[in-house]
Amino acid sequence: MEDGFQFADELGPTKIIHVYDPTIGLKAILVVDNVAAGPAIGGLRMAPDVSTAECFRLARAMTLKNAAAELPHGGGKSVLFADPKTDKGDKELLVRAFASALRDTREYIIGPDMGTNEECMAWARDEIGRSVGLPREMGGIPLDEIGATGWGVTQCALVAAEYCDLEIKGARVVVQGFGAVGKHAARFLSAQGAVLVGASDSRGSISNAGGLDIDALFELKDTGGSVMDYAGGSKGVPEAVLDMDCEIWIPAARPDVLRADNVARLKAKLVIQGANIPATLAAEEQLHRAGVLSIPDFIANAGGVICAAMEYRGSSESEALSVIAQKLKRNTRLVLDAARQQDILPRQAAFALANDRVNKAMGYRRWSVFSSAPGFV
Ligand code: NAD
Repeated sequence: MEDGFQFADELGPTKIIHVYDPTIGLKAILVVDNVAAGPAIGGLRMAPDVSTAECFRLARAMTLKNAAAELPHGGGKSVLFADPKTDKGDKELLVRAFASALRDTREYIIGPDMGTNEECMAWARDEIGRSVGLPREMGGIPLDEIGATGWGVTQCALVAAEYCDLEIKGARVVVQGFGAVGKHAARFLSAQGAVLVGASDSRGSISNAGGLDIDALFELKDTGGSVMDYAGGSKGVPEAVLDMDCEIWIPAARPDVLRADNVARLKAKLVIQGANIPATLAAEEQLHRAGVLSIPDFIANAGGVICAAMEYRGSSESEALSVIAQKLKRNTRLVLDAARQQDILPRQAAFALANDRVNKAMGYRRWSVFSSAPGFV
């Protein structure tokens, strides 16, 4: 792996569970990385091409994200090897079976991620009584429907813009991955006066220097279509978003889309990492040298998990959105001030902030696995 990722270090992982049931085609992995601050919250990703390494890296990103956001939760992640667009009955069976296998793994609370949604979380809750990101009808705050992460990405962009002399009003935005995170980031940024000029999904990309109609793109995606079905604008391959003229570039899809071999193609002044692990360290170093500000994933996309943690404690949607704005703005400023003062990458400053909080939480605990400790429900 380009960044020399290690599978275990002083933070974790504390537990790895492989779940396999060939009779129904279930193959899944759970990585519980660190639970010092409380039970881990992290999404369940469903995709045919996920990997164990991806699950490890995503679990660590959740440890750092939850610590940076000062949540009473550690980090974990699960992946289910399957096509999320599979027949709904089959998908329900897989999600229910996986949740059921984790019935006694109380140090992990399942949340939504790529390929899973509020409905999947309702199935998991029905099986084991433990999940977040639930539908409204079950007392949840449907974080993807309301765009909790896109809301946080926008708060982060508002603060980061000050550090790279950028006016949000009129700033051109490109979103890689027009899904739950990307489309709401585009919508909230456009409410601040920014202009969406490019967007992609797994089928292709679309651009229009004069601006794309965000409502029309929402309509297409919400009815099972693609940005490629958009009328007007120029169409291209998914990777064409790398070359589009813009001030703000938002990765909101798969890992490692920005790498040493392609990052020089970016024309933006500001990258807000809506996706988890969308850039390799080498790519971030290159951006830094080129004077492009890149806000790390575990700072920029914490809106969803803050919302999930607040749902878990019975907070309302408006309380969650207000806390997301407050935490994301504060953390973005803390990280960018430290990066500037110490002349280090924003990721290094963010890591120091989060790592310090995880270590302090670890210092208060006696055991590294707390499944039977108070507070684990
Ligand atoms: P999603 O499934 O709703 O949307 C993902 C979008 O990316 C889809 O439109 C898909 O077509 C597109 N896509 C897939 N492969 C692509 C490719 N190669 N090129 C361009 N587009 C591609 O998922 P999401 O919930 O929006 O999550 C996106 C990313 O954000 C993931 O990395 C996820 O871990 C991260 N994230 C999500 C949340 C959340 O609240 N949903 C919170 C934090 C981080």
